Amino acid sequence: VYSVKNLSKKYDGKEVLSLDEFELHQGEVFGLVGPSGAGKSTFLRLLNFLEKPTTGIISFNGGKFDRENQPDLKTRRKVTTVFQKPALMKSSVWKNVLYPLKIRDIKIDRELEQKAEELVSDIGLEDLIDKRADKLSGGEAQRVAVARALIFEPDVLLLDEPTSNLDPTNISIIEDKIKQYSEEKHKAILMVTHNIFQARRLADRVGLMHRGCFIEVKDKDTFFSSPENELTERFLEGDL
Ligand code: ATP
Ligand code: MG
Repeated sequence: VYSVKNLSKKYDGKEVLSLDEFELHQGEVFGLVGPSGAGKSTFLRLLNFLEKPTTGIISFNGGKFDRENQPDLKTRRKVTTVFQKPALMKSSVWKNVLYPLKIRDIKIDRELEQKAEELVSDIGLEDLIDKRADKLSGGEAQRVAVARALIFEPDVLLLDEPTSNLDPTNISIIEDKIKQYSEEKHKAILMVTHNIFQARRLADRVGLMHRGCFIEVKDKDTFFSSPENELTERFLEGDL
């Protein structure tokens, strides 16, 4: 779904991202790992068009986009991002979950309402639907953010450390939902995580980013069992 060429991003003249090539395929879960400051979140902000690249081309949804030419709203809305800290509206959980449908002018009929109810109960929010989203705990709020991201079945789901700072129960509910979405809908998922065990549990392919570059990109089993780059070995040993 994405194909990226010669992508770079500079802040104040300093290059923080420099990628020759990258592809994200339909149906795959890509785990993006790397030390703090590697450029992972910057990469996500280029992929969801929140920021413009300094150089390079992002092919997405039949279009080629660069610094000058950015996609229209309709195209941008095929991608959704869940951030580390969810930004929810100060309205009920239910309204938050349905919001992406509203802004896309999707009519909420009985069938869709039922789907939303299922999603909400899958993710353990059924007792909270009338509660105000700004009064939720961190784990509850992040579950709302995930439900809201999935309600309109985005072509691409980008996750930026969606479960850091959450307890094991919330982590496992969210991981299960992501896994189920991937298996049932075959959409593309790119997940940034600090947690190599999480990458191991969820990803099909894993890429290590270091100082704005991909050091090693492999299918999951190869990445963990026989890394080729010394930096990958160090990363897996917790020494990068
Ligand atoms: P972490 O794991 O800590 O979230 P990261 O891999 O997501 O790290 P980025 O947030 O992408 O890293 O940052 C990469 C580099 O770009 C860092 O050196 C950061 O200071 C710099 N950077 C990010 N955003 C900006 C900005 N808006 N202005 C200036 N520098 C920025
Ligand atoms: Mg980050």
